[in-house]
Amino acid sequence: MAHVLVVGAGIGGLASAARLAHAGHQVTLIEQRDQLGGRVGQLERDGFRFDTGPTLLMMLDPLEKLFRDLHRRLEDYLQPVLLTPSYRVFYADGTRFDSSPCIASMVREIAQKMSPDEVPGYLRLMADLSAMLHEVVPAFVRRNYRSVADLLGAKQISLLLKHHLLANLYRRIARYARDPRLRMLFTFQTMYLGLSPLEAPWVYAILTYMESGEGVWFPRGGMYQLVRALETVVREEGVQIRTGERVEEVLIDAGRAKGVCLASGEKVNGDLVVLNVDVPTAYNKLLPPTKQARRRWRNSCSALVLCIGYERRLPTLLHHNVHFSGDFERNLQEIFVHQVIPEEPSFYTCLSARTEPSDAPEGCENLYVLIPVPNRSGEDVSVHKEEVIDKVFSRLEREAGLRREGVRFVESLAPAEWEAMGLWQGAAFGLSHHFFQSTCFRPSNRAPFDGVYFVGASTVPGNGIPMVLISAELLQQRIEQEVVAPRGKG
Ligand SMILES: Cc1cc2nc3c(=O)[nH]c(=O)nc-3n(C[C@H](O)[C@H](O)[C@H](O)COP(=O)(O)OP(=O)(O)OC[C@H]3O[C@@H](n4cnc5c(N)ncnc54)[C@H](O)[C@@H]3O)c2cc1C
Repeated sequence: MAHVLVVGAGIGGLASAARLAHAGHQVTLIEQRDQLGGRVGQLERDGFRFDTGPTLLMMLDPLEKLFRDLHRRLEDYLQPVLLTPSYRVFYADGTRFDSSPCIASMVREIAQKMSPDEVPGYLRLMADLSAMLHEVVPAFVRRNYRSVADLLGAKQISLLLKHHLLANLYRRIARYARDPRLRMLFTFQTMYLGLSPLEAPWVYAILTYMESGEGVWFPRGGMYQLVRALETVVREEGVQIRTGERVEEVLIDAGRAKGVCLASGEKVNGDLVVLNVDVPTAYNKLLPPTKQARRRWRNSCSALVLCIGYERRLPTLLHHNVHFSGDFERNLQEIFVHQVIPEEPSFYTCLSARTEPSDAPEGCENLYVLIPVPNRSGEDVSVHKEEVIDKVFSRLEREAGLRREGVRFVESLAPAEWEAMGLWQGAAFGLSHHFFQSTCFRPSNRAPFDGVYFVGASTVPGNGIPMVLISAELLQQRIEQEVVAPRGKG
């Protein structure tokens, strides 16, 4: 078996280190920061605890599969709780809508808040998306592509036509929902990938189903418990973990990986190098020059995240809340096309203490706000940060009774912080998911050097915790095919 160096301890790095060690490889995991988890981070201050990146756990299947493959039971390491309702939506016209995976609650809410005429469309949408999800994931998502030909197989073509996978998401949703508020509700999920619903293909409606059909989960103790669970498994599997050590270069000899060089100058030898580093960053900063480094990558948008210690209660907010801009389409154009700071931003709020009371002191709220903003190739949000915070606070004054004197502190993460974590152009959600950066067109998990591989959000299949966990499955398959099987034959 090989000595594998995994560079980066995001979810992709942790899951692949666990898988490869379980398969018998000797694994060393090298992380530049002191905290494991990458974008799945946490902040503790003055008795408040915040998850600083992901807050919604969806599609549990890849997580359950990881633990099954490692001969463990997920429930021994993590206790996910299903949230009902999933979240509350605040529309600019004053409508409050509670979105739920429970069909009965949704039917009631749609009939009362929108119109009874919209109910059949919702039911058709869930049925169509359920069928689509279950066919699309094995055919397009859970697979390693060798070439474009893999996308053009008879099965793939028939699914493309059957489910209209490449139709425009925002236009097609009109077949199911007439009310523009419902169209926003059923399409905004592509923003989890940093992709505009206006330009996303219909296939990304599977995100809507993951959320509205399968529901939103929250691990007891917070999202960071996911990192703790994976760290426990990784240590049980005997992986050596080195934190606070930045890899400066992947060492290549005669086209083959032979190790990495750390910022300290130390050289660490290994047979295989798995990079959990954002792919454009890896090609431009860690690997010898290749044509991939010169490729004009399209990146996702970024995010301004605020972690606010608030000394009162915000009773109208639930655990998760979405606050839509009064002009949603303009808001999307500003972020994705004009790349400017939105005039009237849509944003998301999270109060995890609703489910985990120890996340905030008694009578207080741990208010997390995520505002989608351009990445660093567009207007710089840090220059306008106070203005943006002011707009968010004004809206929360109206919708949640926020009083500014209750704000004890505001900590923020802007695109510059995401860039420091290794994300190209500070794009919080990594490489964009438009057609030519998806499926076989997305960077492969195999670099053009023997023994160098990728895992994580910017390789196949894509961004988000479930996809990143699948990327670790695909990486393991790739290494088994290319490294383990040929050696066995030899
Ligand atoms: C604000 C925000 C909210 C999100 N919300 C959700 C959500 O609710 N649900 C969801 O499913 N997903 C969400 N996501 C997406 C999710 O966080 C990511 O898809 C996932 O965490 C990415 O994991 P990864 O393994 O690709 O790598 P990352 O998390 O990017 O980790 C990469 C690691 O590599 C390390 N590294 C980089 N360069 C080096 C180097 N040279 N040497 C050593 N180490 C290095 C970094 O420090 C980092 O720890 C969100 C993302 C953000 C930013």
